[in-house]
Amino acid sequence: MPTVGWIREGDLDAFYEGTERTPDPSPQREPNFSCPFCGSIFPNQSEFHDHVYAKHRVERPFIMLRGKEPSAHAVVRSPLAASEIALANTSHAKVLLDGAGPQKVSIDKLGELISETSQAELTLELVNTTEKKATPVVTQYGFSFRVAQKADLRRVEQAFSEILVSDTITRNSIGSFLADKRTQGPGKEYASGLADYCLGILIKERPEGENLTTPFSRHRELYGRALDVLKDFPRPLAHLITCIIRFSLNNFENGGRRTGYLELDLATELLSNPTSDSLQLPLENTTRRPVCPIDHGTGRMLELANHLASQSRWSPILDDECRALAHSDLLDATDHQKAFAIWAASAWRLGSTDSALEPLTQIAEIYPFSRWASKYLEQATT
Ligand SMILES: [Zn+2]
Repeated sequence: MPTVGWIREGDLDAFYEGTERTPDPSPQREPNFSCPFCGSIFPNQSEFHDHVYAKHRVERPFIMLRGKEPSAHAVVRSPLAASEIALANTSHAKVLLDGAGPQKVSIDKLGELISETSQAELTLELVNTTEKKATPVVTQYGFSFRVAQKADLRRVEQAFSEILVSDTITRNSIGSFLADKRTQGPGKEYASGLADYCLGILIKERPEGENLTTPFSRHRELYGRALDVLKDFPRPLAHLITCIIRFSLNNFENGGRRTGYLELDLATELLSNPTSDSLQLPLENTTRRPVCPIDHGTGRMLELANHLASQSRWSPILDDECRALAHSDLLDATDHQKAFAIWAASAWRLGSTDSALEPLTQIAEIYPFSRWASKYLEQATT
């Protein structure tokens, strides 16, 4: 104890001083790492990390529906078979069905529950508790089940055919389709997809007398919304319309899937792979029944592709026809690109490299046509 000036050390100070002892520094102990989960001891940090990673890793649980993990808020529109549902890293689940619950459900039971649900809101929590001493890892999903029976979908198609196929599309006819009693109930979601498609046609075509205030560009949004809903319905009509929409939006990712609508299959094949050997020309004089409306711009492109595919040689008159269409003020941007692409692909197929040059330069940088156009352009100019 230090003393300051005249303050002298007392007895008590001396006593305290005697009790303050720093322990003798013993030989340094080796550091070790003990596992908080199982108590094993490791001599160094890297071995400890390896152990925890190999033995006590708790993975995120997830569900797969038809081979894909659904988004956090998914809509289920077609029935799921138990074999189409897979779970990983899941110990058990907690479900909240239409607000009732939560209820703890085993993995087997969960598959059953999902495949049996047709109309409900389901909140699903998958829990991974494999590591007893760690906080469980949880993944949450919300599902809206809007599964309709075949009979419901057929009724919607009947109303569609009567109201929107055999008559002109107007805002009124779309309204009466949506108000028809056949489009209510479980089939409502399907009906809304079909209605969005028709509204998209209306906005793209802008017929006089409809006094539309919606901007022209919104047709793409409506087509996109219809595509998003209709792609989930396992019906031939839904499949056909999604293919028409993809064609009209210049989306050729699903190129090879046939629809049975021969003009569309030919044009899609031509634009996906211009040198394809399997272009099938539609037969003349077959009686066919209209099943869905198609916007005039898209229809015009189908006609052009089929008209050019039936030619046996190329000539400047065909260039002229294509040029007029590709620059028409009445077509939208995607149809302009498509006209150039059909022109380029058809001239190229018939061996007229010179005629293909003009349209190729227009689309060489435009996806998805750039996939073949840039290659052809390079071949033609070297
Ligand atoms: Zn351990």
